[in-house]
Amino acid sequence: MSTTTPEGPLKDALAQLARAAEHLDLSAGTHKMLATPRRELQVAVPLRRDDGSVAVYSGFRVQHNFTRGPAKGGLRYAPQVDLDEVRALAMWMTWKCALLDVPYGGAKGGVAFDPREHSDAELERITRRYTSEILPIIGPEVDVPAPDVGTNEQTMAWIMDTYSVAMGHTVPGIVTGKPLSLGGSLGRSMATSSGVAHVAQLALRSRGIEPHGATAAVQGFGKVGRGAALILAHAGVKVVAISDIDGAVANPDGLSITALGHYVDEHGSVVGFPGGDAIDPSELLAMEVDALIPAAVEGVLTKDTAPTVCASVVVEGANGPTTEAADTILADAGVLVVPDILANAGGVVVSYFEWVQAHQAYAWSEHDVEDRLRERMEKAWVDVTTYAAAHGMSLREAATAMAVRRVFEAHMLRGLYP
Ligand code: GLU
Repeated sequence: MSTTTPEGPLKDALAQLARAAEHLDLSAGTHKMLATPRRELQVAVPLRRDDGSVAVYSGFRVQHNFTRGPAKGGLRYAPQVDLDEVRALAMWMTWKCALLDVPYGGAKGGVAFDPREHSDAELERITRRYTSEILPIIGPEVDVPAPDVGTNEQTMAWIMDTYSVAMGHTVPGIVTGKPLSLGGSLGRSMATSSGVAHVAQLALRSRGIEPHGATAAVQGFGKVGRGAALILAHAGVKVVAISDIDGAVANPDGLSITALGHYVDEHGSVVGFPGGDAIDPSELLAMEVDALIPAAVEGVLTKDTAPTVCASVVVEGANGPTTEAADTILADAGVLVVPDILANAGGVVVSYFEWVQAHQAYAWSEHDVEDRLRERMEKAWVDVTTYAAAHGMSLREAATAMAVRRVFEAHMLRGLYP
């Protein structure tokens, strides 16, 4: 790790770990080991653009921990990706997998470029080149990528193909979040959203708010926000505002999520949706709603925006949307924050189911996937809320402490080698 003082998500991730280490009374050496990624790879990703010119992007894969099993985590395509961001996201994956008790460590990957400014053919070349560059350190028993911001099922299909061609045989377990016809799991595409929506309802009920008739605002209308809004709307929650990267729409009577979905499929953005009024995206975080669901990127609830939050619960669909400073402000204001490593863990849980199905070469029914996902999310919710109450902690502190303890215990049993 670099010796410069980290900023942004890595600073938050390290501060969360430090609190857990103190609570668990870990030695300085153990704390340092958990703060340090096991392996990091930075690669150049040269791309021949469609116009014949050559661009070179930076790619990363950080494997934070392997103690409980293969490293696991998504691959992100976004302009702001850098090594520290990937380090933070990899560490959060370790805690998320441990908290949900899936037998993985944590990893994350990223390539720093804007996928919206690239053709499908360019995206394929970037993905295949990046996969070739990180090939020596990934594998179905080593490190298993999955979709994240800016990547999707098609990206996973290209990774699987590139890896399989190099190995000389088809390796379905190399990625999760694959298309169904390549061994993807039923229920995977909606898994993160489904977990978020499920936990949001548990959180509302814990506050004495019946989800049917409750209000919610969702930041982000991508893989996580869109599905969560849809499921919540089906449960009777009035989703009164939704934003995306280009703008935001609101309707106090509740937006029709199905109509908004059709509109976005056609126009590429929520902007101009006739079933609501345009609002400034920055207003969304401050809306008077029962549940606020940041489901876009990290660092949106800050010391400046957190004091404006009026919601009763914040459910983190995104990874790291709340900074350390914002966490304290929200806790002091009595806002219940359901942390990312719990709230959005549905994705990696069903990734695990997909990986198990790849190893079994046997596909489970959608019913099996959904039941097992719900069971795990509910257990994690009960475990975290019980621990938080017993120790007088926030849900994030409790979730992180429980996860860190599991990784630490596994490490103690394995020992430090040599
Ligand atoms: N990118 C998702 C996350 O942050 C899923 C990771 C996975 O399934 O491996 O949890």
